Amino acid sequence: MINKLIPKRGLKCLRCGNPFADRCVYHSMVVENVAAKALDRRDYCDPCAKELLKNPSSDTILSLWKSTHPPAKEAHQKPLHLFAFALALLEEQIAKNDSSLFAEMFVLSLYLLRKKILYQRQEVKLSSGVDGLIFEVAETGKLICVPKVELSSLQIENLQKSIAYKLK
Ligand SMILES: [Zn+2]
Repeated sequence: MINKLIPKRGLKCLRCGNPFADRCVYHSMVVENVAAKALDRRDYCDPCAKELLKNPSSDTILSLWKSTHPPAKEAHQKPLHLFAFALALLEEQIAKNDSSLFAEMFVLSLYLLRKKILYQRQEVKLSSGVDGLIFEVAETGKLICVPKVELSSLQIENLQKSIAYKLK
């Protein structure tokens, strides 16, 4: 009987030995190893895969697919790091107290609110006449105040893009 457990993706090309770089294209083959009565997984970089497919060996290729090597960190570590970074960016902008940043600060705080990094506490009227929202940083209990801004959905979309760019 054929063993159906297929090993997970390799970290380097089986032919040239080069490690797969982030976002590089690689080809995976599932090959039947009749002698061992098992399925082998073989991963090759793009140039090697093209070479191999010119001269297929006697191995039976059961499946062949092309994918992009995911950056190693993206799966687990990025979100927490990203939220901390977004919070640091918001705090930095609050400290600057620059009115040209108010809209961006507002969108950033709504993002952190949605991700439960911030809790919304109260709506306040600032001495400058500006409406503000008081948020509590969930982890530390620290309070921050963000000016409330009326925005159209298009503005929000553009600001989200600009924030996403800063968070890269
Ligand atoms: Zn290779």
